Amino acid sequence: MKNVVVIGIGLIGGSMVKDLKKLRPEIKIIGVDANEAHITAALNSGLIDETGDLAVVADADVVILSIPVDASVKLLPEILDLIADDTLVIDVGSTKQDICKAVEHHPNRRNYLAAHPIAGTEFSGPQAAINDLFKQKTNIICDVEKTAFKLQERALSLFSDLGMRIRYMNPESHDKHIAYVSHLSHISSFMLGKTVIEKERNERDIFDMAGSGFASTVRLAKSSPEMWTPIFKQNKTNVVETLNEYINNLNQFKNLLESDDFEAIFDEMKNTNRIKDILKGIA
Ligand code: NAP
Repeated sequence: MKNVVVIGIGLIGGSMVKDLKKLRPEIKIIGVDANEAHITAALNSGLIDETGDLAVVADADVVILSIPVDASVKLLPEILDLIADDTLVIDVGSTKQDICKAVEHHPNRRNYLAAHPIAGTEFSGPQAAINDLFKQKTNIICDVEKTAFKLQERALSLFSDLGMRIRYMNPESHDKHIAYVSHLSHISSFMLGKTVIEKERNERDIFDMAGSGFASTVRLAKSSPEMWTPIFKQNKTNVVETLNEYINNLNQFKNLLESDDFEAIFDEMKNTNRIKDILKGIA
């Protein structure tokens, strides 16, 4: 592998090439990004070696597509039009159904691998890129049988270098499950932040009283709306379903409080403590 093109030099694309540069210094990293300031920052920090326009994908061994999911759906077919026979194109977007559908009949579909690394932070842009972001994290690969075998091998070797565990799933299951464990958590955090901000107009009080419980629960509310709006749009049906279940649980908790049923409240929390075992080794 000699040339890697990263389209979208932000948290995810930037962190991938940061690790790759460390592990395989002989690789040339070419960055493409719609944001000129991000290109300049990535060149200055050494995250990328060169920049160019979309045509650079023609000479790439690997293309990593790491831009908001609505932009990826539009750009991926254009990338597949431009690449060489032996180029591997990986997308890392947080939704998988729309993008897989957008290229299902493309003549170069076998050059594309749909992935979702379950790793991240609440920060964006090239300055958010960090080493070891993917170490021991799960990477979900969708419709793997639709990618050419030798390109699957190249992708797996790259993911293995980054330290990732692989799970295989179809795009429909991915989007359904991820709505619960990721998309709902973000909505819950955004709305908790909103509720407290609206009530506590004096931000100094929030800051002074915010213990680690509030700070850790509301962390995801710092995430980028540019990235999350298209995710909610693409996964609307699944997200609405998770929200209905969540709102039912909130209402049920409120009803128990209003009716002074503290025994039931205790039981609710005790049952949910099982999350400690479920997440052992993760959080
Ligand atoms: P990010 O830090 O905001 O980086 C995305 C970069 O792409 C930004 O520089 C952005 O510029 C640029 N960009 C936007 N539209 C573009 C276009 N049409 N062509 C070229 N460049 C474009 O985002 P990220 O967090 O790395 O997320 C990238 C992808 O990874 C998304 O699909 C997301 O769903 C997925 N993902 C994210 C996480 C996470 O925790 N953040 C985890 C797993 C997967 P501007 O800033 O000017 O828009």
